[in-house]
Amino acid sequence: MESMSIYKGCRCSLCSKPLRNAKNLVCSNCLSRKNYFNKGFSLFVYNESNIKKVIEYIKFYHKPHLVKFLMHYSNFIKELDIFEDCDYLIPIPMHRDDIEERGYNQSAYIAKIISKITGIPVGFDILIKTKKTKKQVGLKQKERLKNLSRAFDVLKIPNNIRKITLIDDVFTTGSTINECAKILKRHNIESNFFTIATTSDINE
Ligand SMILES: [Zn+2]
Repeated sequence: MESMSIYKGCRCSLCSKPLRNAKNLVCSNCLSRKNYFNKGFSLFVYNESNIKKVIEYIKFYHKPHLVKFLMHYSNFIKELDIFEDCDYLIPIPMHRDDIEERGYNQSAYIAKIISKITGIPVGFDILIKTKKTKKQVGLKQKERLKNLSRAFDVLKIPNNIRKITLIDDVFTTGSTINECAKILKRHNIESNFFTIATTSDINE
């Protein structure tokens, strides 16, 4: 697992997605929509390494403890600016039916490891998923947004919370993360995000 290397090429300055053209600072996805998050970072490129296999094990083969591999990258992770002044780490919530089906929320496992690395507490009850949504894979951008509409809500807001970092496994188009950031912004909470991996093609 140590052979997996962090993506070191050009990235979008907002969502950190790999950029083909180094002259661009922002990817086409970030240019074409309103981002409610400030900035995000994904360690690996999903399509290009063994990371895909690791994430599949974490998500679909009941091996959430594999997220511990992130500890190998702790020196790098704790220096990331997305954790600066961050009050809480918030795992992207799953609907309770989906948690029951899978047995766990992998993002919560990731958040716990990131908490160990950065010392930032995990806010488990801040954001909840109230609507059962279809899988986003294969949906067009418009359908993704419709699918996610009113899917999340704020449950408990701790005092003095200003800035959080959303935690998830894979960043694809970022619609889910953007929707969560939108809800939090309504409560004057700023969001960054961290994901283990990002897809290299935003259209897939
Ligand atoms: Zn971007």
